[in-house]
Parts: sequence; C-alpha cells; structure tokens
Amino acid sequence: MERRHFEQEHTIFRASFREFLQREVVPHQDAWEEAGIVPREIWCKAGESGFLVPFADEKYGGAGARDFRYDQIVCEELAYINEPGFIMPLHSSLCAPYLDTFGNEAQKDRWMPDIVAGNTIMAVAMTEPGAGSDLAGMRTHAEKKDDHWLLNGSKIYISNGILADLIIVAAKTNPDNKHAMTLFMIEAGMPGFERGRNLKKLGMKSQDTAELFFNDVKVPPENVLGQVDFGFYYLMQMLAQERLTNACCAIAGAKAAYDVTKTYVTERKAFGREIAKFQNTRFKMAEMKTEIDIGQVFVDRCVMDHNQQQLKDDIAAEAKLWTTELLCKVVDQCVQLHGGAGYMWEYPITRMYANARIQRIFAGTSEIMKEIIGRANGFA
Ligand SMILES: Cc1cc2nc3c(=O)[nH]c(=O)nc-3n(C[C@H](O)[C@H](O)[C@H](O)COP(=O)(O)OP(=O)(O)OC[C@H]3O[C@@H](n4cnc5c(N)ncnc54)[C@H](O)[C@@H]3O)c2cc1C
Repeated sequence: MERRHFEQEHTIFRASFREFLQREVVPHQDAWEEAGIVPREIWCKAGESGFLVPFADEKYGGAGARDFRYDQIVCEELAYINEPGFIMPLHSSLCAPYLDTFGNEAQKDRWMPDIVAGNTIMAVAMTEPGAGSDLAGMRTHAEKKDDHWLLNGSKIYISNGILADLIIVAAKTNPDNKHAMTLFMIEAGMPGFERGRNLKKLGMKSQDTAELFFNDVKVPPENVLGQVDFGFYYLMQMLAQERLTNACCAIAGAKAAYDVTKTYVTERKAFGREIAKFQNTRFKMAEMKTEIDIGQVFVDRCVMDHNQQQLKDDIAAEAKLWTTELLCKVVDQCVQLHGGAGYMWEYPITRMYANARIQRIFAGTSEIMKEIIGRANGFA
C-alpha cells in the first residue's frame, strides 16, 4: 500500500541512509554479532554522514530537522537489514531528546556537538534488578552534599551499557516522596561508576546490554538534567516518543520478516510445487500482509500527529502494543513457513525471530500498555 506522508526530501534521506547501511554496516553484521558489540567507529561514521540526531540545531552540527519522519526512516532501514546492535534510535530518538527538552544551554553546548558527531554515545538507565515496570520502586538514590550529589545504586539491562559515554540515570532524591526522582548525566570515567559484563541475550546479539553500578559517584550540579525531583515527570513525558519509536521499528520488522519469507516460499519446493502454491501459505501471507498494511497506516498517522505535538500517551501505547504483538506473531508464522531452515541461525528469519521477542517487553511491557490504554478509557 502506498504511503502518503513522506515528501521528496525523505525519499532522498532514505536512499542515502540505505546506501550507508549497505556499505558500512551489512558487511560487518556477522562479526559484530560474534563480538556482542558494534565498534565505536560506526557511530562516528554515521555522525560524519549526518545520520545521527537529525533534529539537532545546526549550531550543534545537526540538520535542524524537527520532523519525526526522519527518525521513522532510520528505524525502518535498520529493521529491514535486521541490525539490532547499532541502536541509533536509542541514541537519536530517545536519549538526545532528553537533553534537547530538559537540558540548559550550557549542557547542550557541552554535549550536543559530540552526540551529533557520534563521538559521545548515549544510554538511558531506568531499570533496576528490583524495579522495571514499577519505576517508582527504584532504589538508586542521590543525596545532596555541599557542592555535589552523591549517587549510589545500580541499573540493569541497559542498552549501550558497555559503549555509552553519557548515561541519563534516574535516581530517587527525596526519601519522603517515592515519585521524587532526578535525572543525572553520568559520564564515562567518573570515579565510582562501573560497568558489569556484557549480558548474554536470546537475541539482539550485536547489542551491548549491561549492568551499571554507582558507588558514591560525586555528581556536580552541572550534570543534573532539568529540575531536581522532576525526573519521574520527565520520564513520563518522553514515553510517547519512546513507544512510537518502538512501533516504527516493530512494524518495519514485521515487513522485513514478511519480505524474506515471500522470497523463501517462492523458491522452496515440496510435493513438486512451490511452498507458495499451497493454500495455507497464500492465506498466511495474505493475513500477514493485511495486518502489516493496517498497522503501518496507524503508525504513519501517529508519526504525523507526533509532528504536530498531538500524539496522546494512550494512542502511542496502542501503537506499541499492536505493532509489537503483530511483529511477534508474524515472525513466528514466518519461521513456520521456513520449516527447519527457520530454526537455523544462518537464515535471516531466525535472527528476526530472536530479535523480535524483546519488543513486547522493553519500553513498557504489553501488559503495562494495556493498563495505560485501559486507564485512558475509563477503566481505572
Ligand atoms: C535487551 C533489553 C534492553 C533493555 N534496555 C533498557 C535500557 O536501555 N534502559 C532501561 O532503563 N531499561 C532497559 N531494559 C529494561 C526493560 O525496559 C524492562 O525489562 C521492562 O520494562 C520490564 O521490566 P522488568 O524486567 O522489571 O519486568 P517486571 O516489571 O518484573 O515484569 C514481569 C511481568 O509482570 C508483568 N507486570 C508488571 N507489572 C504489571 C502490572 N501492573 N499489571 C500487569 N502485569 C504486570 C509484566 O508485564 C511482565 O509480564 C531493557 C531490557 C532488555 C531485556
């Protein structure tokens, strides 16, 4: 189905980004997967080519393109090549917007140019061993001292956890109020900040996911993002964009799985005919195509609403819920249509299957999305 919300400049951006990925990423994907991490240089190359943080102001080296369609294209093209480790959407569409929205001018001047250039890689650390869905249950805390904050605690499952140079860390700052959190910008090399091992995962194997530890980290006031005690409110404010980003990636992932399966079923034969000629295959492919097209229209509409600052939290939650559930259904059916080949790592569908599963869990689980949607519709 033809998509109507892209203009010529988006098509040009997509073509150039696609060419970049084919040249700089695709040839290295197996090696990155083996290493469990991507090299820093790829971030710098993406920065040099102008693909990181497209919304950033020109004075920071950005294109000043405050148009989420560019973020959407980045999500889609990475999903089409099934590259989970070079997690540009986390850096550009989730982390950098915190600095843009809540940072002061001095903080932006200090960090934004290197973030746009890819010299500074970002991460956001909310989840803890004892607090994921229930963020208010976090135990990481910071205490105000004379001229600094003293940060203590730990975070888990942090994407870019090994590579990140600048991490937005949420911590409690008022023991009498469980929602009083503050966001701290923690920099690599700060004494007391340590990283655990690169965690072994079911999928997304080229992405570094790690535990982070903070033991009496002295954080200067210049590294406090926004107002003290407002962190929880800031996190909530950014969740709609985070969920929309997930939805953009998920629906594109479903399309990618559909495409590789279409090729496979037209080449593979059984009982003297192409797998594609069986009615079951045709029906499954037709069902998947229909649901992907419907999901894509909804996501595209959300992107345009978000560009107008009109995307509501519960609608973003609907987009995340629907697309990530659809993605997991699609990859499962596509594995089935591949037969035994669908269980072999050398086939793209197998990696897509493994990579997809987390989408229903991170950035808010499907159950939490249903709670948000339910509450917004009067089911308290
Ligand atoms: C690969 C990976 C990358 C990640 N990257 C990051 C990152 O960069 N930064 C970061 O901060 N976090 C990150 N996370 C953490 C992720 O966001 C959390 O795992 C997720 O939010 C779920 O939290 P949890 O694991 O504590 O599960 P829990 O909250 O313990 O949930 C367990 C189960 O209980 C259900 N449940 C919980 N509360 C309710 C409720 N109220 N009603 C109904 N059901 C409920 C959940 O839906 C789930 O099914 C990442 C996780 C993974 C695996």
